[in-house]
Amino acid sequence: MAFKTISVKTETAQQLVDITQQVRLVVRESGVKSGVCRVFIPHTTAAVTINENADPNVRRDILNRLEQVAPSDGTYLHTEGNSHAHIKSSLVGSSVSVFVEAGQLVLGTWQSVFLCEFDGPRTRNVMVRVSAG
Ligand code: ZN
Repeated sequence: MAFKTISVKTETAQQLVDITQQVRLVVRESGVKSGVCRVFIPHTTAAVTINENADPNVRRDILNRLEQVAPSDGTYLHTEGNSHAHIKSSLVGSSVSVFVEAGQLVLGTWQSVFLCEFDGPRTRNVMVRVSAG
């Protein structure tokens, strides 16, 4: 079993950052051959998801549609000015789980693990736990 916190610097206000390689590294270091890798983000204005890594327009479409659901310049009660980011974070979710087999993450060909930044740029922590069994 292994637990590690990955630090990720995001570069823009809203973006999806592919963190698959960093997660793969934790899995490799864990030595776990068969089990589960859990990825959790301890932030309220960011999220994690698994989606397509091939066409960058998929990432743009996701961000654009979320922006329509919760506009950055919308009217909200929360006075910090980032309610849109809180809403997007809850819609996307704070964790994902991926099976580990033969010491490797079991992801589909076109799948990557993404950190979803909704209130950046800033430095985000992502927690990764790899468990056998
Ligand atoms: Zn806030």
